[in-house]
Amino acid sequence: MTHRHGLNWDKAQAVLQRERSAFAAKMPRSRDLSAQAGQHLLFGVPMHWMNDWSTPFSLYVEAAKGARFRDVDGHEYVDFCLGDTGAMFGHAPEPVGRALAAQAQKGFTTMLPSEDAPWVASELARRFGLPYWQFAMTASDANRFVIRWARAATGRSKVLIFNGCYHGTVDDVFVDLIDGAPVQRDSLLGQVYDLKQYTKVVEFNDLAALEAALQDGDVACVLAEPALTNIGMVLPDPGYWEAAQALIRRHGSQLAIDETHTISTGVGGYTRAFGLQPDIFVIGKPIGGGVPCAAYGFSAELAQRVQAAKRSAPPGHSGIGTTLTANMLSMAAMRANLAEVMTEAAYAHMFQLAERLASGLREVIARYQLPWCVTQVGARTEFQFCTTPPRNGSEAAQILDSELEQIIHLYLLNRGQLITPFHNMILVCPDTTATDVYKLISCFADFVAETVA
Ligand code: PMP
Repeated sequence: MTHRHGLNWDKAQAVLQRERSAFAAKMPRSRDLSAQAGQHLLFGVPMHWMNDWSTPFSLYVEAAKGARFRDVDGHEYVDFCLGDTGAMFGHAPEPVGRALAAQAQKGFTTMLPSEDAPWVASELARRFGLPYWQFAMTASDANRFVIRWARAATGRSKVLIFNGCYHGTVDDVFVDLIDGAPVQRDSLLGQVYDLKQYTKVVEFNDLAALEAALQDGDVACVLAEPALTNIGMVLPDPGYWEAAQALIRRHGSQLAIDETHTISTGVGGYTRAFGLQPDIFVIGKPIGGGVPCAAYGFSAELAQRVQAAKRSAPPGHSGIGTTLTANMLSMAAMRANLAEVMTEAAYAHMFQLAERLASGLREVIARYQLPWCVTQVGARTEFQFCTTPPRNGSEAAQILDSELEQIIHLYLLNRGQLITPFHNMILVCPDTTATDVYKLISCFADFVAETVA
C-alpha cells in the first residue's frame, strides 16, 4: 500500500477510475460537444487552459446564475470556483445584468469616455485610497501596463517579484527562484528574451532578501499580491508588510499591490483591511461582475511622475492601453457592480460562510488526522497538503500535488460541487448558502473517509 499525504494512494486511484467512468456515463451532451469542438478548436477547447480541469472531457455549461450553474446534460452544481474569481460576486448579478441591458441600447465601444467613467474612478479612489486611475481589459494587461508606467516614471529598469507569484500572462513575472537562483520558467512558450535580465525574484516573508535585492537602487517596482494566492496560499508573517513597505520606500522603489484575488479580504481589499499604502493598486477579474475589465490606481506622487514621463516622451504610441479599454459596456458593468454588488453586506455574508467552511474542513482534517491545513483570506479558503501553512513560494510549491487535487476535484464535481483547478481554492459568493457549504464539507469528509490510509 502506498501512502500519499495521509491517504491510501491505491484507494485514491480506484476512486479516480470510478469517478472518471461515472462522469463519462452521465454526460452524453458534453461528450458530443467535446467531439465537435475537436474539429475546429485547437486543443478541442476555445482556450487551451480549459483542458486543465479534472474531467475526462470538457464539462459544457448551459447557464450560470448566482452561486449555481447547470451543465448541458441538465445537472446542477454549486460553484465554489466562480470563474477563478471572475464571478466572485455570483454569476450574472442582477444589477450588472440590468446595467448591461440598458447600455446595450446605448452602444458598446466608441473609444470616448462615457458618463460612468468619472463615477467609477471616484468610487475606486474612495474604496482603495489611491487618487488617480486608469483601466485595462484584464488584470494581466493592467499589470503589464503598471510595470511600464513604473519604469517610465522612475527611470529604473527592474521589477521585483515574489517566488511562486502569478500576476497573469505578464512575461516579466515568469521567473522562479530555484535553489536560490533565478530561473526563467521553461513552460513559457515562444519567449525568446532573457527575462532574468530585468526581473529580480525573492522569497515572500524574507525581509533580508528583499532588502538585498532593493539595494542596487534599480528596482522600479515591487509587484506583489499581499498574500500569495496562486501557489496554494501563503500569508504574510505578522509585521511583514510594515517592514517590507518601509524597505521599498527607503530604496526609492514603488509598491504595486495586485488585489485581483485578495479583494476577497473586504470591500477595500487587503490594502484597506490591513492599512497597506501601495503606490500602485491593481484590480481585475471580479471588478466588473464578470465582464472583462480591470483597473489600476496611482498615488498622487507617482501619478505626477507618470504624467511627467508621458509629457516628456516623444510623440507616438506609449505601448500602454488597448482599443477596447474603458469601453462603455465595461464601465457600466463596473459602476453597477461597485454600487450594488460589492457591498459591505455581501462581504459580511461571504465572511460568515467562509468561516464555517474553513472550520468544517479543519474539523474533518483533525478527525482523520490528515497532515493538511486550511488557509483563509476573507472569502477565499484553501486546503493544503501540509500541517503548517507554507511561508514562501518554495514551500508552497513543494506540497502541490496536481494528481491528488484532480481526484478530489472530480469527486466533488460528480456530487454537484465545483472548486478551482490548479490547487484547492474555494470561493463563496453572496448567493452561496449555509446548506451549500455544509454539503461541500460533508462530501469532502466522504472522500477522506473513503481514501484515508
Ligand atoms: N493577478 C492575479 C493575482 C491573478 O490571480 C490573476 C489570474 N489568476 C491575474 C492577475 C490575471 O488575471 P487575468 O487572467 O484575468 O488577466
